[in-house]
Amino acid sequence: MDSSNKEHNAGYIQIPQIFYCYATQKPFEECLVCKKKLLESDTPYVIEKAIKKYPTYTAKDVVSEYAICLACNAEMQNSLSEYSKELINTYFNQRVDLMSRRHKMLKEHGPDIDAWLTNCLIYQTPVTDISEYQIYAYCEGSYLVFSAMPFMISGRAIEEIAEQLSPETKEVLDDFIDEHFGLPPELKELLKNRKLIHL
Ligand SMILES: [Zn+2]
Repeated sequence: MDSSNKEHNAGYIQIPQIFYCYATQKPFEECLVCKKKLLESDTPYVIEKAIKKYPTYTAKDVVSEYAICLACNAEMQNSLSEYSKELINTYFNQRVDLMSRRHKMLKEHGPDIDAWLTNCLIYQTPVTDISEYQIYAYCEGSYLVFSAMPFMISGRAIEEIAEQLSPETKEVLDDFIDEHFGLPPELKELLKNRKLIHL
């Protein structure tokens, strides 16, 4: 679909600010892994952000954030163990029907991005009651596409998944953090302990 059609399709919006790169305050420009340019053409990719809120004041801290093209995402998923892939799929399938959710959300809220991110996908907990969470969006070029994503998932659900992952998968995820996040070791450890999961 070309850009002019997307403007008139309820399932697409220009990437909203909440999914901008925190550092630049602009849309992500390239894939974290292969550095492919994302905003040109209709390149499909996923944006993932982990956020921590501090209860005593209103500041929010973006713990990690990246955009990854679907090709690199698929490669990453393939490197997870069969056991872990199955576990992640089962966890979601037993708790949420992403396609019915999409239908319901579009019908009730249209492209209101806040509505899509207001409650934990798994537990329905409101974001105002959650101190740590992750948000995900599926995008094509400079557009966010309302599909199985966007969604918000609470730290509680993330921990449940992370706790069950195989040691091999944890290693793959840790290597991913080591390789792609230019962070000092103490921050990497923090990120690993925060149990970043990769969907
Ligand atoms: Zn890539």
